[in-house]
Amino acid sequence: MTFEWPNKARLAMSFVINIEEGSEMSILRGDKGPEPVDELGVALKIPIRNYANESNYQYGIRAGAKRVFRAFEKAQIKTTVTAAAQSLEAAPEVVRMIVEGGHETCSHGLRWVHQFSFTEDRERAFIQKAIDSIKVTTGLRPLGWLSRYLHTDITRALLAEMGFEYHMDDFSDDTPHWDVVDTPKGPKPIVIVPYALDTNDMKFWLAPGYTPEQWLDYAIATFDQLYAEADDGVPRLMSLGLHLRIIGRPGRIGALENFISHVQSKPDVWCASRLDIARAFSSSVPAPTSATVMETK
Ligand SMILES: [Zn+2]
Repeated sequence: MTFEWPNKARLAMSFVINIEEGSEMSILRGDKGPEPVDELGVALKIPIRNYANESNYQYGIRAGAKRVFRAFEKAQIKTTVTAAAQSLEAAPEVVRMIVEGGHETCSHGLRWVHQFSFTEDRERAFIQKAIDSIKVTTGLRPLGWLSRYLHTDITRALLAEMGFEYHMDDFSDDTPHWDVVDTPKGPKPIVIVPYALDTNDMKFWLAPGYTPEQWLDYAIATFDQLYAEADDGVPRLMSLGLHLRIIGRPGRIGALENFISHVQSKPDVWCASRLDIARAFSSSVPAPTSATVMETK
């Protein structure tokens, strides 16, 4: 498969800022229990509020966001913000940083819930509510989607039907590809922009947690390898997943800034939003027309 990034860049670098603080599970928001994802690994089995974890998430909004967005502003880089819609509703100051920085907002769902357990009607309504909410908060409807946890058998078809241009619940490659899904109006192509978990800053939270130096080394090794491999004529994509409450900590933000400096020290790298990456791919590789053609590799 041949395709080109703008200016024949070797590598498209996609920084992904997850914004989900305030969308995690909580008794306060009518959930059956507190959020199980906790930096300390505390998974409460009883239905009480976990005030400590809730406030630890809020760190991302109150303190982390400024550091993270400042790093990208200094570097003049456009990122993709994968936002749980209700987190943006509750954080107008973060929305201002997204909009003023020209970042793309991709939908990370209405909020953190088990989308994989939904019926078709409920999932369609969930996606629509996320679109409507993000359109109100940021001024633009999202054109990309990232699920929390798993998704259903029909999520991708619903996304294509509802006008999404790309889907990022995929970890299968270092380049985008096409998929074709069956919708009520017939087969529809959608660009798959694969994400990556190995470089994600959640490695700071998982045991054994990375140090900032280990995370930076791993991210640079990934970048350098993909950059070198593009010698074969196939441009590559690298994704770096970030969270305001994780990389936005004072002891970690320097690792991100050092990674950005490394990226910007190399020629022929295109730092872009995932929507721009999806569009560069789709304008370079014609969409397959039938659902029998699953991939254009
Ligand atoms: Zn997430």
